[in-house]
Amino acid sequence: MRILWLDRQLRLQDNPSLALALRTPGPIILLACPWQASNPESQWLPQASGLSLEAWLRAALDLQQQLAKLGQCLNISLEPAQQLIPRLLPPNQSCLLLTDAQYDQQKTQWLTKLPCQTPLPCSIQCLGDNQLLSPEQTRGGAKHIGRFTAFYYLQNQEPLKPELDLHPESIQAQSIDLHWPTKSCRQDWQQPISSSDYQPWLEQYLWHKQQVRHYKQSRNAFLGLGNYSGMSVGLSLGSLSVRHLYQQIRAHEQQLGSNESTQALIYELYWRHYFHWLARQLQARLYAKTPELSPRQASLLQHWCLAQTKHPLINAIQHQLQQTGFISNRARQITASYLVHDLGLPWQYGAVWFEQQLLDYDPASNYGNWAYIAGHHPASQKPHVFDINRQQQRYDPKSEFIRQWQHG
Ligand SMILES: Cc1cc2nc3c(=O)[nH]c(=O)nc-3n(C[C@H](O)[C@H](O)[C@H](O)COP(=O)(O)OP(=O)(O)OC[C@H]3O[C@@H](n4cnc5c(N)ncnc54)[C@H](O)[C@@H]3O)c2cc1C
Repeated sequence: MRILWLDRQLRLQDNPSLALALRTPGPIILLACPWQASNPESQWLPQASGLSLEAWLRAALDLQQQLAKLGQCLNISLEPAQQLIPRLLPPNQSCLLLTDAQYDQQKTQWLTKLPCQTPLPCSIQCLGDNQLLSPEQTRGGAKHIGRFTAFYYLQNQEPLKPELDLHPESIQAQSIDLHWPTKSCRQDWQQPISSSDYQPWLEQYLWHKQQVRHYKQSRNAFLGLGNYSGMSVGLSLGSLSVRHLYQQIRAHEQQLGSNESTQALIYELYWRHYFHWLARQLQARLYAKTPELSPRQASLLQHWCLAQTKHPLINAIQHQLQQTGFISNRARQITASYLVHDLGLPWQYGAVWFEQQLLDYDPASNYGNWAYIAGHHPASQKPHVFDINRQQQRYDPKSEFIRQWQHG
């Protein structure tokens, strides 16, 4: 018996685990269900909006439709993987669990222990997540663990071409009886989420509007998807292949010329890769033990989450995060710096709040960026402090962003 569990890689093409599952004959259950993190820090945080689960569902339903066109069945459940998968493992036959391999410390630990819970052998195979370069291509990176620029030049080699072939003819994925997700899936998303959303989005961003050509100048804006690429939700849910995105940017450069903006976007994809690579190298060391909060700190944290600080800019950022599940990179940096350096709170609480709220939550990028701002990251031991008033003058001089997001 084989089960393919998709948590994040919610796309048809360039998806090694799905390709393998569909290539190898024999019964298989294709299953999409989310991973539910459990963080002790959550007890100090307000309840999450639940938007990220809706986004996940949208991407999963989209993949289900695409697989249905190939005559294959994707079973979807909102029950957390930790509860559902042990129940599905057959008690009387051995099992192979295939899954994507996005690095997440808790998930990795759970997968390691899972075979001990089953009466008959259960083996687990983790296959390629959404990475720009293969492990072979990053082998020499260890020397540059604390230096992104050195790492970037070392790794600046062509990513492998995305795999486009799927051979679903030989197998028939099984349908199983699961509770159909009752959660509604909102339709009015501002940004692309699913694989089908990304096809027109890439077309527009790279070719019709060519917004990529001013990315370097516009990426720090607070408002206006298109000023930044809007690729992160797809990269994190795996509804967009990073190697496909890379190829498309290169195709744009070949036809219309490379400029500092197209290069800057590629550079950011390497930052993502660097954070992912580092998370695997550092494992538990990235998630240092979180200090306890005093009652005063707990109250400051609540006020920050609930947009009740004395800074209108921070409040606007937090409102946008709660209502949409997305904020720009500059907004993330400012509000993170405020939590760590102005309020003096441990960065891990902010990271868990982002983890619960962001549609594009990605363990390595989130924890990596928070630690980086706090100055607790191997890539930077120096605190990165953002002056709120100066940032506001520079990036929201007419208070347009603040006005748009001043209310909860
Ligand atoms: C405190 C903090 C927390 C963050 N948490 C996350 C997270 O959970 N998930 C996430 O995907 N990004 C995270 N980022 C990185 C970055 O803010 C987002 O990737 C970006 O804002 C997403 O919008 P975009 O796709 O339009 O980005 P663009 O600016 O258009 O960049 C294109 C892509 O490059 C990658 N990228 C860009 N900047 C970074 C960066 N600093 N670190 C890693 N990758 C980067 C992303 O994959 C992004 O989609 C965080 C940054 C900070 C400061």
